Amino acid sequence: MPAVVLIGAQWGDEGKGKITDFLAEKSQVVVRYQGGSNAGHTIVLGPEVYKLHLVPSGIFYPEKLCLIAGGVVLDPAVLLAELASLRLRGVSAANLRVSTNAHVIMPYHRLLDELEENARGAARIGTTGRGIGPAYRDKINRSGIRVQDLLEPDLLSAKLDENLAEKNALLTKIYGHDPLPAEAIRREYLEYGARLAPSVTDTALLVNERLARGERVLFEGAQGIMLDLDHGTYPFVTSSNPVAGGACTGAGVGPLCIDSVVGVLKAYTTRVGSGPFPTELAGEKGDLLRQRGGEYGTTTGRARRCGWLDAVVARYAVRISGLSHLALMKLDVLTGFGPLKICTGYRLPDGTILTEFPQSARVLSQITPVYEELAGWDEDVSGIRDFDRLPATARAYVRRVEELAGAPVTLLAVGPEREQTIARGHVFAPEPGGQ
Ligand code: GDP
Repeated sequence: MPAVVLIGAQWGDEGKGKITDFLAEKSQVVVRYQGGSNAGHTIVLGPEVYKLHLVPSGIFYPEKLCLIAGGVVLDPAVLLAELASLRLRGVSAANLRVSTNAHVIMPYHRLLDELEENARGAARIGTTGRGIGPAYRDKINRSGIRVQDLLEPDLLSAKLDENLAEKNALLTKIYGHDPLPAEAIRREYLEYGARLAPSVTDTALLVNERLARGERVLFEGAQGIMLDLDHGTYPFVTSSNPVAGGACTGAGVGPLCIDSVVGVLKAYTTRVGSGPFPTELAGEKGDLLRQRGGEYGTTTGRARRCGWLDAVVARYAVRISGLSHLALMKLDVLTGFGPLKICTGYRLPDGTILTEFPQSARVLSQITPVYEELAGWDEDVSGIRDFDRLPATARAYVRRVEELAGAPVTLLAVGPEREQTIARGHVFAPEPGGQ
C-alpha cells in the first residue's frame, strides 16, 4: 500500500504546495484531510501561478482522483469560488470528490472567529478569521453541520435553528451584534448543497479501495507540526492536527497503510501570527529574508515573521511525526546571505542547554537560541538539478540539517517551479521500470 503523508515541519508556509504538486505527479490519488480554507498553497506551473486554499494540489492532473476528506472543515462558498476560478483557467474539477462527513463552515463561524479574535485584544492568536476554529469547536461539541446535511432540507433547517438559537444569543448578548437570519442562510446553504451534490461521497471508502488496489496515495497536510492542536505551541495553534497522525483520523485510513512521511522544512523559518518563535530575526536580516523569500501569506497577505533555521524544531518534527524524509525548501533564498546560522539548542537563564523542544510555555518564553555558524554561498543555485553540483558550502548546510534533524533531505527545492527540485532518492517506493 504505497501511501505517503506530506506535512509541514515548521509553522506552515514551508512550501508544501510545490512538493505536493511534485509528488502528485507520481500519485493516483491526492487527499486533503485536515484544516480548512486557512491553508494556502502556491503552485507555479510555467507562467501560471495558482493559489489553492481547499482543493488538493492534484487537481492539475485530470486523471488523478482528488479528495477533500472528512477531517477538513469546508466553506462551500470558498470551495465553489476556487473551482470556478480554476475552471476559468481551463482546469476541470471533474476529478474532485468531497466527503459527506466534512463539517461545514457557516456564516456564524466566520463572524464569531472575527469577534472573538478582536475581543482577545493583545492576546490575539492570529487566526485567519475564516471560521475554522469555531467550526471545529462545533464539531467537538457535536452540534456541527456536515456536508451530508446540506443535501437534506428538513435536517438542515432543524440543525440550523438549533445552532442559531445559541449563536444569535452569543452574537447579540455578548458581542452586541445583529442576529443572523435563518431563512437566508438555509436557502444559501441548500443551494451550495445542490451544487456540490454530484461530488459528495464516502471519501474514506474511496481511498481505502484505491489503497487496496495498490494505487499511490498522497495525503496532503496543511499548516505545520508546530501549529498542531496537541503538539504545537498551544494556544497559538490551529484547531486541527497537522501531525502525520492527522492523516489517519482525517482521511479514515489505518496507520499501517502509510509507507513514508515527508516533512517539508524551509531552509530558514517563518511564522504567521502570534506565539513563540525562538529564532526570529527582528532586524535587517529578518526583513531581507522576508523580501527575498516573498514571505507574505497566500491566504491573508500578512507579512510573515522570519528567522534562522531551528534544528530543535526540525528534530521535534521528526520525532512527533516519524518523518522518514525531509524536503528542504527555498535553498536559493539563502544565496548571497553571508554566513548562515542554524539553531542547535536553547539556553535557559541558568546556562542549561536544551536540545529537545520544551513542552512548557514558560520555559519556551525564557530561552535564547544557541547558534552554529556555517559558511554561506554566492553562486546562483536555482538552475542546479544535481546535488553534487551545488556549492560545497550549500551541500555542507544541507548535510548539517540532516544530521541535526535526524532525517534525510530527500528533496531539495532551489526555486518555485516544479522542475527546480533536486531529488536525492525516492519518496514512493520505485515502481518496476522506474519512478
Ligand atoms: P505552503 O502553504 O506550505 O504551500 O507554502 P506557501 O505556498 O505559502 O509558500 C511557499 C512559497 O514559496 C510559494 O510562493 C512558492 O511558490 C514558493 N516556493 C516554494 N519552493 C520554493 C523554493 O525552493 N524557492 C523559492 N524561491 N520559492 C519557493
